[in-house]
Amino acid sequence: MENNLHIFIDRLKNDKEEKILDTLLAKDLDIEREKELIFRTPIELEAKVYRVNEELIINVNLKFGVSIPCKICNKLIEKDIKVKNLYITEEIENIKTFYDLKDEIKNLCFLQIPSYVECLDSCPSRENIKNYFKEQKKENFPFSDLKE
Ligand SMILES: [Zn+2]
Repeated sequence: MENNLHIFIDRLKNDKEEKILDTLLAKDLDIEREKELIFRTPIELEAKVYRVNEELIINVNLKFGVSIPCKICNKLIEKDIKVKNLYITEEIENIKTFYDLKDEIKNLCFLQIPSYVECLDSCPSRENIKNYFKEQKKENFPFSDLKE
């Protein structure tokens, strides 16, 4: 089967746009199943690829669902994640034969996954650890005092 995530430069003509529509499984992206993060749905990819002069430009849209344990009570929480209109650019001269979108998609997925989730956006168990959390807060947000 042809790998949709390989973008062959010589097939792209100036100003001609190509579409990539694909449904990827976590394992297609070499994402291991982890206790802390479960990909609940396949990753829907919709991308537009084109070149402008000496640059390859990729416009990426992603949609997928994950389950992440609540940081407080450990209950698994379902989150739907969307990436809209993200641009990746790469100089053509840096690309050998084809550009492999796989690692970029993988990185994008992980970047979008919140590192801190709480069930119901306010875990019922939070009361129990309130004091602990207060102390943590200062360290976690070193820039919270900065004015815009
Ligand atoms: Zn919770």
